[in-house]
Amino acid sequence: MAVPTHNHSSRPKPALLGMDFDALKEFVREAGFPAFRARQLHHWLYIRGATEFAEMHNLARDFRDWLAENCTIGHATVGEVKVSTDGSKKLIYRLADGKVVESVLIRERNWFTLCVSSQVGCAVDCKFCMTGFGGFQRQMTTAEIVSQVLLAQRVAGKDDSPRNLVFMGMGEPLLNLENLIPALRLLADPDAIGIAGRRITVSTSGILPGIEKLGEANTGVSLAISLNASNNEYRNRIMPINKRYPIENLLDACRAFPLKQRRRITFEYVMLGGENDTLDNARELAVLLRGMPCKINLIPWNPDSHLPFKRPPEDRVLRFQQYLLSQGFTASVRYSKGLDVDGACGQLAAHWREKEKATGK
Ligand code: SAH
Ligand code: SF4
Repeated sequence: MAVPTHNHSSRPKPALLGMDFDALKEFVREAGFPAFRARQLHHWLYIRGATEFAEMHNLARDFRDWLAENCTIGHATVGEVKVSTDGSKKLIYRLADGKVVESVLIRERNWFTLCVSSQVGCAVDCKFCMTGFGGFQRQMTTAEIVSQVLLAQRVAGKDDSPRNLVFMGMGEPLLNLENLIPALRLLADPDAIGIAGRRITVSTSGILPGIEKLGEANTGVSLAISLNASNNEYRNRIMPINKRYPIENLLDACRAFPLKQRRRITFEYVMLGGENDTLDNARELAVLLRGMPCKINLIPWNPDSHLPFKRPPEDRVLRFQQYLLSQGFTASVRYSKGLDVDGACGQLAAHWREKEKATGK
């Protein structure tokens, strides 16, 4: 068998972010340093969010030098923070290879929710979404996923640190399970980043095998489904992925998803003016979701001039909501925050906008 040879100097240095405590212990042990260094390192990485080895002042000099020589922390860099008039903040991150992703600190009543990305771009091709329009570039690593959260915590400061986390930024999280699951474990671990599982929501366009695997991984996170349609015919049109995983199968997977006590699945329903916003649609939706422990989030579509949809008038949105309420559902209208900084749902497409700018299209 051919043994691959590595040129030592050109091999990329491993990133520490993404390693859990056991992995750090092993890493430190292999390098010949005492085991308690792993505990210190873990603290600096996940509790303090250190971005430089120089910050880790209680590490012995020789250990710090060895780390700087042999690995990286693995943080992205925050390129720009755009502050919306509603108090939300869009963070633009540059990754090590120059790719760009975004997350949004969304101001809620008296706390912040952080909306994070899981892929650079997205391959799912939903017709109403700018991330989909821009296409897929690559998976985000575990380090990059958690880096968004740790850096946003720093930008926000202690008082405004995000309380909830939603994977509703760029990308389809369940098509990146390999990096997502370890990230979720670090995020939810009370000894690491420590955002309780019930405060973390993974949103999916309905990747069935992914929903099953996420359930099996037992991370304790909540699930949101981007349903966006009340029947297969229309869903096939706006979300071609529905041809592979149609609504009935998707709802079966939701019923089988291991929910913690009293928790409910969130169904997102992007409202497209004149397309899926009629009372008939509301009736169909009610029939589909009858008996499901769920809440419904109605999201009036956020416009982009590249896409051929309309935002529905307010009264149609409210009429739709009223019907669902009258049928005993929990249904709220989510007016997206951060619209003025292109930070609203479906508007995160920095990777593509940069390209557009560069080619002068
Ligand atoms: N890929 C995952 C998570 C990211 S998308 C998913 O699709 O669930 C997050 C949410 O934004 C989805 O519910 C999607 O339907 C919604 N969305 C996409 N484009 C939108 C737009 N232009 N206006 C409002 N919501 C949008
Ligand atoms: Fe991808 Fe979600 Fe946008 Fe669909 S809605 S293209 S799955 S990011």
